[in-house]
Amino acid sequence: MSTALIEARDLKKHYPLSGGLFSRSARQVRAVDGVSFSIEAGSTLALVGESGCGKSTTGRLLLRLIEPTSGEVLIDGHSLNEMAGRQLRRARRQMQIVFQDPFSSLNPRHSVGEIIAWPMRLHGLGNETAIRARVRELLKLVGLQPGHADRHPHQFSGGQRQRVGIARAIALESRFIVLDEPTSSLDVSVQAQILNLLQELKNQFGLTYLLISHNLGVVEYMANDIAVMYLGQIVEYGSAETIMSGPRHPYTHALLSAVLGPVTGERRKRLILHGDPPNPASPPPACRFHTRCPYVQDICRETPPPLEAADPGHLAACHFADQIPQYVSRGERNP
Ligand code: ADP
Ligand code: MG
Repeated sequence: MSTALIEARDLKKHYPLSGGLFSRSARQVRAVDGVSFSIEAGSTLALVGESGCGKSTTGRLLLRLIEPTSGEVLIDGHSLNEMAGRQLRRARRQMQIVFQDPFSSLNPRHSVGEIIAWPMRLHGLGNETAIRARVRELLKLVGLQPGHADRHPHQFSGGQRQRVGIARAIALESRFIVLDEPTSSLDVSVQAQILNLLQELKNQFGLTYLLISHNLGVVEYMANDIAVMYLGQIVEYGSAETIMSGPRHPYTHALLSAVLGPVTGERRKRLILHGDPPNPASPPPACRFHTRCPYVQDICRETPPPLEAADPGHLAACHFADQIPQYVSRGERNP
């Protein structure tokens, strides 16, 4: 049996809410509330869900940029919780992140060459000549010119800036990269180019990705597996193929409806969600989705549905996972 490269075990991150003077209990934002998954080496897991459901927090927990309230992250089967000093530094070198917004994630005062060289300097890798050569090589790998090293971020387009962010993320030959909405701040015409680049780099270097996105359309092209999050928890988890062709959770069905093309057949039924997700400081009891679910029954307000197999290898947290109408099928959707 192959070990997962990255594994999350019951991860939680609760932020204390600074309550008013008279508040009786210290309320908490349950940003991530018991999330487990594993990512095989060389594959891409997409983490999908609406804004505020805990995707970025999960990504940061994996990289240990923030400490979990409870739960653990394993790399190659070893818990990050138990690492310190050199061992932790070595583990951290294996993991990088590409942020959503290349405007704010690249320091405008530094040249692109300095930005890309920074992780190598931080880890004390190579002398100046070697680092400079590596920067030129990295620029070429991400589709930029070696001569771009002397320019500053504001001299580039959004797409080019994101290429710089990607060059920085692969500089240390890390094996695992968190892609936090890597294309959502870019023009649609540029998004596909960046996704192509990420896919090429993955194939070339055998990278493993956690792709964070609020858009199932974007992940379909990239993901091997999909985990759908709602209010800090995973509500559906399985292979991209199974989930895209037959979602078992009504929330996933709704996300898919949002990316359906123009209606072409009568059988298609869209599920449109109304309103915003509830506040993660006071999630609805039992099934957290019940306040927005068109199929809600009494049991949904009383008993939390466990995340369990709806089909082999396909988990869904819905009391009626077997009965959710299968309206969406691959052939009906536009590319
Ligand atoms: P997503 O990336 O899915 O949009 P986030 O992980 O950024 O969601 O946030 C999940 C929830 O946690 C949100 O309600 C957000 O406001 C809250 N949150 C995130 N970071 C913090 C923080 N540092 N302090 C307090 N609350 C936070
Ligand atoms: Mg986010």
